[in-house]
Amino acid sequence: MKFFDKESIKFKLWTYFIALSAVIMVLLWLLQTVFLNQFYESMKTNEIKKIGNSLVQQYGKEGFEDLLYTTSLSEGIVIQILDGDGNLVYPLNLIDILRQPRLDYKLFSEFLINLLNSENNHVIYYREDIRFSGPTLVYGAILKNEGSSNYFLYINSILQPVDSTVNVLQKQLIIVTIISLGMGLILSYAIATKLTKPIEEITESAKSLAQGDYNIVFNKGDYTEINNLADTLNYATKELSKTEELRRDLIANVSHDLRTPLTLIKSYGEMIRDISGNNEIKRNSHIKTIIDEADRLTILVNDMMDLSKAQSGLENLGMVSFDIKKTTEDILTRFKYFEDKYGYSFILNSKGEAKVLGDESKIQQVIYNLLSNAVNYSTDMKEITINIEDEGSNVLFQVRDRGVGIPEDQLANIWDRYYKVGKSHKRSISGSGIGLSIVKSILMAHKSEYGVESKLDEGSTFFFKLKKSL
Ligand code: ADP
Repeated sequence: MKFFDKESIKFKLWTYFIALSAVIMVLLWLLQTVFLNQFYESMKTNEIKKIGNSLVQQYGKEGFEDLLYTTSLSEGIVIQILDGDGNLVYPLNLIDILRQPRLDYKLFSEFLINLLNSENNHVIYYREDIRFSGPTLVYGAILKNEGSSNYFLYINSILQPVDSTVNVLQKQLIIVTIISLGMGLILSYAIATKLTKPIEEITESAKSLAQGDYNIVFNKGDYTEINNLADTLNYATKELSKTEELRRDLIANVSHDLRTPLTLIKSYGEMIRDISGNNEIKRNSHIKTIIDEADRLTILVNDMMDLSKAQSGLENLGMVSFDIKKTTEDILTRFKYFEDKYGYSFILNSKGEAKVLGDESKIQQVIYNLLSNAVNYSTDMKEITINIEDEGSNVLFQVRDRGVGIPEDQLANIWDRYYKVGKSHKRSISGSGIGLSIVKSILMAHKSEYGVESKLDEGSTFFFKLKKSL
């Protein structure tokens, strides 16, 4: 994978990191440099307004002069009180009394105009003072005196220039910006590599899987999501390998199934042409074989079609209430032939009616397949027992045979499509390995509990349960 693949996790993560750092940096620059001056000024203005307003409130109370003194020292501001002509009333020392100091006329008139034009009882404004390099902040308010003329509170504060601070901050910010961008780059690369490594490994494994290597194992990583993905893929691989095995078995079985009757049909056809064409008895016997083999082929093809048919209608089951005992009796009439010709006996045990909820035609197919298997896998004991039992909310249906039984380690597999126990192929049993997978699909669609108990050489009992209908 190229690093500059714009769709890659690496590239995207890197972009997001850089974007995040950039946004934080821009915010810091704005706050610390552009707005620092404004921020400082408004802070200073508020501060001085608070001091001035509280002094106005304290005016006339005891200790006011001390308060003026401590405030001006602790806040680093100049506090003065003037009379109506701009003469200094506070602070005064002995020499000052003789000198009668007053505020510069221009300053005082500017102050008065500002104060009298103000809508509040105080005023705050900036003025350039040639004695300082920067501007000063002036606060003014009227100190009311009952009966005599008012005084004015006059506060001066220097605004420290913030330019030098801004300069230092800018230099620091440049360093922080470079470091954070560099770290963003390294960090995003590291995270992306750690994150994508297991994904890349999984991709490699998936490629092997695609090439048919079913032994591949998808490795887990450090993340739950990737572990889940690996688990799912491992599961999929297992299922795929199962399907693959079944497919191979199917081809082996089906091609055998197809080839044998086809060979027989062909050779008997040739025999009729070359030898028995004129001998009616032989010819009829040969034709019968051809018909039998054609029937066998038909059954095989029908089984395959049944499977896809059975699975296609399963989303829309036509659930009705029906008597499963009656349904079974109907199906048993179709097995009469086996009773008469081969000596099978079918025993149906049921107490009274057994009404269940289900798709009757699908359940008929289930029962038919189970009975066919019981017949097919019976040995000398040709006794097949059907039990229908009321279990309260469910009805239990069982088919028991005394046949070959199923080895324990194969019990779980017999429900798989195309699965045949032992894989050995007996000509006498024309199974295609599809019957039980149809049974399973139908019962699962009914959310029915089903299963089998079996002992080798003693027989098998297949069962399922359906909801009782009231
Ligand atoms: P088949 O067409 O081969 O019978 P099924 O899907 O019906 O296919 O059954 C799958 C396999 O399960 C059979 O090949 C057989 O080996 C085993 N099986 C099914 N029913 C019975 C049974 N009643 N007794 C013994 N083995 C059975």
